[in-house]
Amino acid sequence: MEPLQEAEISCPSCWETIELSLDLSAGSQTYTEDCPVCCQPMLVRLQVDEDEGTFNVDVEAENG
Ligand SMILES: [Zn+2]
Repeated sequence: MEPLQEAEISCPSCWETIELSLDLSAGSQTYTEDCPVCCQPMLVRLQVDEDEGTFNVDVEAENG
């Protein structure tokens, strides 16, 4: 699996579809990224399953 992937998600603040660049080489992680459309921070939860070669990404508004 390529370590650099892109995933389409919906911003939890403005619901625009945006493309996230993911670095799977760092493994599963949770981090904050600003939406390029509305500039609101969102919490990105990245789960990497290296054995299966799959990943899952989930976003939520940083302030609930
Ligand atoms: Zn947004």
